[in-house]
Parts: sequence; structure tokens; C-alpha cells
Amino acid sequence: MNTFETFHLSDKLKTVLAELGYSSPTPIQAQSLPHLLQGRDLIGQSATGSGKTAAYTLPLLERLDSDCPDLQRQRGLQALILCPTRELALQVSGEIRKLGKKHIGLKVLPVTGGVPIGPQIVALEKGIHIVVGTPGRIGDHLRRNTLEIASIRTLVLDEADRMLEMGFQEEMDFIFTRLPSARHTMLFSATFPTTIESWSRSIQNDPVRIVIEPETLSRPDIEQRAYVVEPLHADRVDFNDRLKLMLYLLKERDPASCIVFVNFKADASALESELKRIGVSVGALHGDLEQPDRERVMARFRNRSIRILIATDVAARGIDVESVDTVVNFELPLKPEIYVHRIGRTGRAGRSGISMTLIAAKQVEKLAPLEQLTGMKILIQKGLDLKNRKLADLSADLKLDSEMETLFIGAGRKNKLRPGDILGALTGECGIAGEEIGKIEIQDYISFVAISKRVSRKALSGLETGRVKGRRVRVELAR
Ligand code: ADP
Ligand code: MG
Repeated sequence: MNTFETFHLSDKLKTVLAELGYSSPTPIQAQSLPHLLQGRDLIGQSATGSGKTAAYTLPLLERLDSDCPDLQRQRGLQALILCPTRELALQVSGEIRKLGKKHIGLKVLPVTGGVPIGPQIVALEKGIHIVVGTPGRIGDHLRRNTLEIASIRTLVLDEADRMLEMGFQEEMDFIFTRLPSARHTMLFSATFPTTIESWSRSIQNDPVRIVIEPETLSRPDIEQRAYVVEPLHADRVDFNDRLKLMLYLLKERDPASCIVFVNFKADASALESELKRIGVSVGALHGDLEQPDRERVMARFRNRSIRILIATDVAARGIDVESVDTVVNFELPLKPEIYVHRIGRTGRAGRSGISMTLIAAKQVEKLAPLEQLTGMKILIQKGLDLKNRKLADLSADLKLDSEMETLFIGAGRKNKLRPGDILGALTGECGIAGEEIGKIEIQDYISFVAISKRVSRKALSGLETGRVKGRRVRVELAR
């Protein structure tokens, strides 16, 4: 039987796994846990969504039990996990807290850029067991001597290839110089370029290598289509021709929730401003956004206040959005693996999805490797002649405006705010009907509420003048 019972896990972890509904280990977990629980170094490769976080977190938590049995008193740093992006670090911290909920007193801290460093320093001083960080900010702390990693027991590099792609090599090499020599090191990466091989040689000790073949990439639940952008036979196609075709397709599809992927951040901004100019409501995620703006865009997309999100691949990493029904590739991505990643944003949780890829006529041959990788045919459509259609007329009755918008509230979980408090204030003092209120998302220090556009002004002024949980709070429309 394929269950967690076959591993020697503590009772408390078994209980947590059962509570989370993790009834059987995923392939990467099944193959790596026996080695990791014995403390062996490991290199692991398997697809996104295959459960790598738990594969390294379970052994890490077990080790914590033996090295540090009284977490409430022993406050030394035990483990460092390096990830490429802030979103990912937050997601990983969340998964560790979930799996570690029976480890009473466990302190996990995300340490990433994009937020002020001061509170991180304070938190680190108080004592943290597991730091989940991005290389840039971890390097910062090491230089300021506000983080000491010389006595950690466990090191994890998660998505090592992404960290390399994002230019963190030098920073990583610097971080490696501060590590203790005796430690348990786990490295996960989707690909193994030579730099990562050499990282492994310099920081790992006789690692086992586990590769889960990507047959799991097969995505029969996603219908893949490619549309040739006219005019035919063109090598490169004009931005406007692409845009027209996309508008035409979106109008037909009328998606509830759609991510449009572009290859470069300049394209994300160009597309965003062009769509806004012609009156289509969209949000965009790209590397230049400040963290608070990213949070707002993502919250608005999650709660369906915006139906179209434009994103670069890097910016989209780690964003946790369920059930996107449509993915548009505004251009073919630069690598086949990225294509698989992108379309994997749809067709989740048993639902079906569609991916629509815009290509130039000469790019048709580039579809074959994508078909091979996904194990599915891509339907090719040509001859959609939009030459004589104007942008304005294609966008005219595009119904892509959402009925909802989003209120931003400057208080969150750490201010003891709960969904019921917000709901209570809106339905009580502000006199708003429950059905006008959508998803309420509470983060640590901020919250977002989806609210029908019909009553958003009323809600805003009601909350501005009134109180939430007996307190004045900062409220804005998140734009
Ligand atoms: P990866 O890092 O490989 O991309 P994650 O660790 O983020 O994947 O896991 C993807 C999802 O699968 C998460 O929502 C996680 O909670 C869930 N998950 C992980 N392991 C299991 C399991 N054994 N059974 C059920 N769900 C799991
Ligand atoms: Mg992961």
C-alpha cells in the first residue's frame, strides 16, 4: 500500500497528514523520504505541484524534534530554506506552518525583499527556528550581521534553477560561505544546468539523485489551441494584430478568469495600458511592481474583481490562484517547459480549461515539441481575418468588466481581525446586503473584500466613518 505509514514518521506528523487529507505520498515524496529521513543529502527533480515542499518539510520537522525538543525554550535557528521569489517563500512558510502545527512553539519566518527589513530584524532577534528566504534579502541580513547561519542543521534550495535564472548566483555563493560544514542539504530543481551541478558538488555530500519523469505533465484536462496571427507568412507580427486577435478570442470565450502571459515586462506594461486605454479592465503583474501593489492586483484577481491578469512568467510564479478557466499566451514562451507551466494554471482541481496561444505563421513548427511534452494535440486555427476590424470596434461590447470591485482594509489577522468582523460592519453599520459581498481575504496586516460595484461607494464611506471591531481602520478602493 502506498501510504505514509511505511515511513517512520512521528505520531504527531501522521496525525497532521491525516488531518490535511494527505492520504498517500506523491511520487517525489515516496522516493525521497526514505533517504531524507536518514539524513542523506539529496537532489530532487519533479514537476510543479508534485509536493516537493512536504518532501523536504517532513524530514526537517522530524529532525527538529530530535535536535530541538523544546521549541518554546530553544530558539536557535535550525534550518534555512532558499526560494526564488517572495510569493514562493510565503507559500512555503504556509505549508511548513500547516505541517508543523503540532510542533508547539515552532517559529517560521519568511525573510524576503519587497517588505521593510526592520520587522524582520526584530523577529530574528526574538528567535526563529526556520527561515524561508530569498537570496537577496538573506545576503543583506548576513552582511548586516542580523542573521547567523553558522549553526543551522538543515539547508534547502527550492527551485534552484529559478534562483540561477534570476541572477542570484553570486549571492548564493556568498551565502554558502557562511554555512556550517556539518548539515543536511536538500536541493530541488526542475533542470540541472552545470552551475547547479557544481553548486551540488560544493555544498552537498554524496547526494542521492531522484528524478520523477514528467509523464505527470500530460494534461488531458486542458484544451490547447493555437491561433495564427494574420497577416500570414509574416516572420514577426505586429503588436496590434496580436491585440486584435486576442480581443476577438476573449470576446468569444468570455472567461470568468484569465491569465495573459507575456515574455517581457515591457510587454506587460504595454498591454496593460493599451487595454485600459480602450476600456477593458485588467491588472498586470510584472517585476517592477512594488510589493503592496502586487498584493492588491493579486487579491483583486483572486476575488474576481478583475477577470484578466497580464503577467510575466517570473512575476506569476508562486501566485496561488485557483480555477483560472483560460490562459492566453500572447506570444510563444521562450522554452517549452515554460509553456507547460503556463497552461498548468488552468484545468486545476478537476476542472477543464483552455489555453489559447497566439503564434506567427512561421512558428507552427514550434508546436510539435509542445504537443509531445503535454501528450496532447494542439488545434491550429488560421485565417481569422481581422485586418479591417478596428481595435475600438473589437473592444466595444467586450463584457470583460467585473461586477465586483475590491476594498482594501489596513488591518489584518495580527490586528485580530476576522472575516466576521468585516462582514458584520458591512451588513450592520453600513447597511449592505450580504449578497453584495464577495470573498473576504484576511492577510497578516491587511485585508481585501470583494464588493458589488453598486454599493462599493456606500461601503467605503460607511467603513471610513464607522468602525470595524470597535476601531477606526484605513479603507480604500484597491485599484
Ligand atoms: P511543488 O513544490 O512540487 O510545486 P507543492 O509542494 O507546492 O508542489 O505542493 C502542491 C500541492 O499539493 C500543495 O497544495 C500541497 O498542499 C499538496 N500536497 C503535497 N503533498 C500532498 C500529498 N501527499 N497528498 C495530497 N496533497 C499534497
Ligand atoms: Mg515548490
